[in-house]
Amino acid sequence: MQSDNDNSEQLIRENLAFIHRRIAAACAASEREITAVKLLLATKTVPPEKIKIAIANGETLIGENKIQELKEKDAALAGLKLERHFIGHLQSNKVKDVLRYASCIQSVDRLAIAEALQKRLELESRQLDIMIQVNTSFEESKFGLHPDQVLHFVEAMKQFPLLHITGLMTIGLFDADPEKVRPSFRLLRTLRDEIVNNGLLPAAQCRELSMGMSGDLETAIAEGATIVRVGTAIFGKRSYPDSYYWNEQTA
Ligand SMILES: *Cc1c(COP(=O)(O)O)cnc(C)c1O
Repeated sequence: MQSDNDNSEQLIRENLAFIHRRIAAACAASEREITAVKLLLATKTVPPEKIKIAIANGETLIGENKIQELKEKDAALAGLKLERHFIGHLQSNKVKDVLRYASCIQSVDRLAIAEALQKRLELESRQLDIMIQVNTSFEESKFGLHPDQVLHFVEAMKQFPLLHITGLMTIGLFDADPEKVRPSFRLLRTLRDEIVNNGLLPAAQCRELSMGMSGDLETAIAEGATIVRVGTAIFGKRSYPDSYYWNEQTA
């Protein structure tokens, strides 16, 4: 057991170093500052002991897909310098819980959830950073707003002033060929530019593009990603298929 743990500790450190080299190389290739891209650890199914290794290694941003996992890992991660985002499908009856654990919800994709958040935030007298999740791959299995609806949605979000939109998030087409994923990322960036150019939000506010994962972060960075969300390439393969997290029936 012990040697197994030692192994995984070293492996996580090496994987993190490799990811940071990939991010640095991608930034250099597109002449972007390395500080312009943040690494979010996608920690679904990852136990707190492994997350702690990454935190001890200097990481500060994690994303969870399930309220249950946020809850279960909370005590073990208490007191650590850590920012937690919610990146999964959110149900209205979980709004109170998500607000307890996450400082940003990247996956807002319908007005009903925005309204539920606004109501709860009014009770708690506070604001919340959110991102709008867009379905840029046009696949039915993925959550997110249809790209055609994004501008209207941002307009409609003005009725929820406690929700502070910091940018857009997408998963993108799931394909081993990064060139096939590129149009998804480009679309997200175009939508962000349209939001700003139409005067719906200031550029300084609507600045985040959360896109790019283990297999395609270089392409995402080339297309303007400011947050890449990486799980597998750091913590190894998950035993659950992603459909478990990305499918409405099991969400
Ligand atoms: C799991 C997950 C990721 C990370 O995917 P990997 O391929 O493991 O890097 C990113 N974003 C979301 C929303 C996820 O659910």
